[in-house]
Amino acid sequence: MHRSLITIDLAAIRHNVRRLRGLLAGAELWAVVKADGYGHGATDVGRVALEEGAAALCVATVAEALELRSALPEARILVLGDTGSADLAVVREARLELGVSTAEVPEGVPVHLKLDTGMGRWGLSEIVAPGSGVVGVMSHFASADTDSAFTAVQLARYLEATAPLAHLQRHIANSAGTLLYPDAHLDAVRCGIALYGISPFGTDAAEEGLRPALRWESSVALVKTLAPAESTGYGRRFVASRPTRIGIVPVGYADGFRRNMSGTEVVVAGARAVVIGTVSMDAIAIALPAAAEAGDRVTLVGEGVIMEEHAHVSGTIPYEIACGIVSRATRSERVIVDE
Ligand SMILES: *Cc1c(COP(=O)(O)O)cnc(C)c1O
Repeated sequence: MHRSLITIDLAAIRHNVRRLRGLLAGAELWAVVKADGYGHGATDVGRVALEEGAAALCVATVAEALELRSALPEARILVLGDTGSADLAVVREARLELGVSTAEVPEGVPVHLKLDTGMGRWGLSEIVAPGSGVVGVMSHFASADTDSAFTAVQLARYLEATAPLAHLQRHIANSAGTLLYPDAHLDAVRCGIALYGISPFGTDAAEEGLRPALRWESSVALVKTLAPAESTGYGRRFVASRPTRIGIVPVGYADGFRRNMSGTEVVVAGARAVVIGTVSMDAIAIALPAAAEAGDRVTLVGEGVIMEEHAHVSGTIPYEIACGIVSRATRSERVIVDE
């Protein structure tokens, strides 16, 4: 018996892939499925993204790529993250492509040279003469979601540096860059967050024509009424000022319901309910709407509750909320639907 249920709606992923591809004139869409598809399941998301016309899958690590390879033998798979210590025999055997930030380019592997145009993280400061294994040249935006001036500077640097390399696949745009800057589409765009129907801008992804794919549900395990001056949870951060019916829900920060999400809203019995008191490792308390009873479903994400809201309450970005929602055999179950 699982304490919560995570449902991944692959039809929403399909819709989002079509929506993103619709923005692209000639560029390919590459689906970024690192961190187990931002908590949505890399293999299933990757498979339907390819079915809907994505041309490649991107992950952060060789280990993630190897997992994908065994499930998707035909997919083009690019490892974006640090690959300096990768076992090249394994990489070749699995037909992976590597992003590379050093002037020394591994042999016998398709490589995408990374150029640092302002992210200040991975990437070469200057492009090196590309050897025969180089198939692409990439860069990454630091603030495509918030800063159009700096994004324009990065794009201009990139275009200048790569002008002589037009025979290689050129790619720079993430989801925000893809949604906002058609000039940055180039040969391919690398979209992650938008694929999952989550806004890179922290607003409602519906504004971008995207549909959230993850629903997270649990239930009211116990109902109790706090008398005035009684409290719930660690630190007694919620103290009832009048008789207050609360529901205890068996999900906590160990499941990805972050401790600083106290005060966010969920849906119970069709109505919004506030999470009160301190979030525990394995439980939260909610202020119950009048109609709610023990056993009622509690929707933590879904039914209009979006991760962007939880991110706003907890002072983070929806990416971190999504990656944090963990399905583990001992705690929550993840089911995949595709219809
Ligand atoms: C994660 C990542 C992306 C995808 O970013 P989103 O904002 O999720 O679209 C693209 N490129 C690189 C290099 C990344 O690391």
